[in-house]
Amino acid sequence: MSEKKDRSKLIFGAIIVVLCVFFVVGVAYGANSLLEMEGTLEPADKYVLDGYAQVPESAQDVIDLVSTAVKNAVEAKPKLDSSDSISIGDELLIGEDSASAVNTMAKFLKDNAADEFAAAFSDLSADFGAGFADKLWIPTLTAEDIDGFECNYIYYHCMQCGADAEEPYAKCSECGNENGPQMRYRDEYSITINLRQGAAALQNNFRLREPSKITDFIGDKFSDFANITAPVNFEYKNARIFVRINRHTGQLYEIKYIKDVDLTTKAEFIGDYAYAGEAKVYLPVYEEVGFWFTWPGVSLSAHELSMAHKKTEALKATLTCDDPLLYDVTWTSSDESIATVDADGYVESNKVDGKVIITASFEFQGKTYTDECEVFVKTSVESIDITKRDLTLKKGETFAQKVSYSPKESTVQTAKWYTTDETVATVDENGVITAIGVGEAEVYAVSDDGYFKATCKVEVTE
Ligand SMILES: [Zn+2]
Repeated sequence: MSEKKDRSKLIFGAIIVVLCVFFVVGVAYGANSLLEMEGTLEPADKYVLDGYAQVPESAQDVIDLVSTAVKNAVEAKPKLDSSDSISIGDELLIGEDSASAVNTMAKFLKDNAADEFAAAFSDLSADFGAGFADKLWIPTLTAEDIDGFECNYIYYHCMQCGADAEEPYAKCSECGNENGPQMRYRDEYSITINLRQGAAALQNNFRLREPSKITDFIGDKFSDFANITAPVNFEYKNARIFVRINRHTGQLYEIKYIKDVDLTTKAEFIGDYAYAGEAKVYLPVYEEVGFWFTWPGVSLSAHELSMAHKKTEALKATLTCDDPLLYDVTWTSSDESIATVDADGYVESNKVDGKVIITASFEFQGKTYTDECEVFVKTSVESIDITKRDLTLKKGETFAQKVSYSPKESTVQTAKWYTTDETVATVDENGVITAIGVGEAEVYAVSDDGYFKATCKVEVTE
């Protein structure tokens, strides 16, 4: 195999290895920093927004965490969107002694009215800074209202195939890996709070679908067939609040109010259907009202860049705000002797090695948002050489190889050593070759920058 072909193959392999290493190191670093952060906050800082929120353990913890997140959202005024969904369950029953007219009506309701029922409740939204305290349902909970909760932020990652699972396992269901998964932390809490049947909070927290609205809707839909003669009764079941909160910032992403309603009433049939008399009407209704929050911010296209001398790279800043085109991004460099950045995000390196932080910031509604990119300016390795390309050693002898880098002032001057046959010759991390057994082997170095390879043929004799 030619050296050139050999090298391109090697570069490819090395890139994959490097990507894997970055991935593992990044993950390990992330998990580790989370682990380190865990429990380091003082109790008073439990729910401080710029710290890591402590995992809620009691009903009161959950109430505090959620209330703080909602309160802060109301004050910070991110963009709010909401969506309603309401559906009629399949078990619609009208009457116990089902006359055919009653069945006709039941069918009509299921086929036509259910969609209208859902459409009767419209979505709403509020722009950044608009204030939405009157639109958002603000949870008013006491520990008494809560019948258990679940807070999820841990998942399990297969290090072999990358599949994620909610629960730990002995064997990966995707790839069969039996080394067990790695426990990881999500960036957010997903919390489901179950409300006690008949909890006072039900009346306060689930207010959009006012019973009178539903009663009017049903009355209107029934008007061709029947009069609603008895009050409509609502029984709320399985009421729950679902919340997503950023663990690092305490920002609220989503809050959803979910409940089942068993609706019962009495209908007195009229006109052509009068013969059916009176019947009990039972309607299972599923309601879900969700609120979503979009927080302003800026995000750069890269957070790490490596550049040679006198090169240009473009960074792109994506703004999350009402109208990104209306806002100017300000670019700054922490050290202009190393690299400069222009008004459009073009980074230009100078002739000095070093690390520089490029910051993009923009002002939105009186606040400044920033994101950063670390830029490493360096002299790249262009080739490497080693002390000896050919070696003949007797068993047990050693030889110390040295790598030289070109250009001499290359920033990164490290390499890794490999052998093609450890039964013939081994090599340590410093390039010291030890002759082990009779035969031939290749010992080679690969530079950490550029992945350049230099090979030494080693022959070992008795
Ligand atoms: Zn797997």
